[in-house]
Amino acid sequence: MSDKKTALVISAHSADFVWRAGGAIAKHAKLGYDVTVVCLSYGERGESAKLWKQEGMTLDKVKTERRKEAENAASALGVHDIQFFDMGDYPLEFTRECKDKMVDVIRAVQPKFMFSHSKWDPYNTDHMNTTQFALETRMMAQAWGHNPGEKVLGAPQLYLFEPHQTEQMNWKPNIFLDISDVWDKKWAAIQCMQGQEHLWHFYENVAQNRGNHFRRNSGGQAGGKAATHAEGFEAIFPRTVDELD
Ligand SMILES: [Zn+2]
Repeated sequence: MSDKKTALVISAHSADFVWRAGGAIAKHAKLGYDVTVVCLSYGERGESAKLWKQEGMTLDKVKTERRKEAENAASALGVHDIQFFDMGDYPLEFTRECKDKMVDVIRAVQPKFMFSHSKWDPYNTDHMNTTQFALETRMMAQAWGHNPGEKVLGAPQLYLFEPHQTEQMNWKPNIFLDISDVWDKKWAAIQCMQGQEHLWHFYENVAQNRGNHFRRNSGGQAGGKAATHAEGFEAIFPRTVDELD
C-alpha cells in the first residue's frame, strides 16, 4: 500500500468539478496529491445547450465533445486520473451496479478527503442525488462485510463544494481555501468548457468574492492573508484535533 496522499472528487456532470473544486484540485495536485475525479455523466442532455444548438448534433457527438473538454480541463488542473461512469443525466440513474463500481474506486483510491455537491438543489436534483450517492458509497466502502478481504475505507472528510445559486441551496461554507496561487490553472480549466462559456465570468466572480471572505476570516484589516481568489466548502463531518486553532 503506498502512502501517497490522495483525494477524490465525485462530480454529477463532466464540468461541475471545474467550476466548484478546480482550485482545490490544482492546489492539492501542486502539494503532491494524486487527485482522482469521477464524472457520473457527461451532462450530455442537461448541461450542453450550446452544443445542441449546432446542426446535426447527436447524443454521441455531445458526449464525445464533453469528454474531451473535461479531459482537457483535468489536465490543466493536474488531475491524476479522471473516470467517466456514463450513467446518463437529467436524471442520473443510480443503479446498484453503479454503487458497487463507485465503492471499488473509493477503496482503490483510499482518499484522504472527498468532494461532492450540496445536500439540497431544487434546480438540479442530479447534484443533490450525487451527494446522497457519495455518502452512501462512502458508507458502503467502510463496511467490513462489503467484499470482505479488501482494504476498508477510513473516515475521509466529505467537502461539499459551492453550488450554483448558492443562497437557494441550504449550503453554508465553513471552510475557505486560498487558491490564489493556482487561479491561473483554474481559469485555464474553465476556458476548456467551451459548451458553457456563459458561466466563465460568473465563476471568476465567485472566486474573487470568496477571496474577499477568505481575507476577512483570516484576520481582515488586522493581519488577514491577502488572498485574491478562494473556494468555499461545507465540511459534513466533525474534525478530530489535538489542539484548537
Ligand atoms: Zn451539473
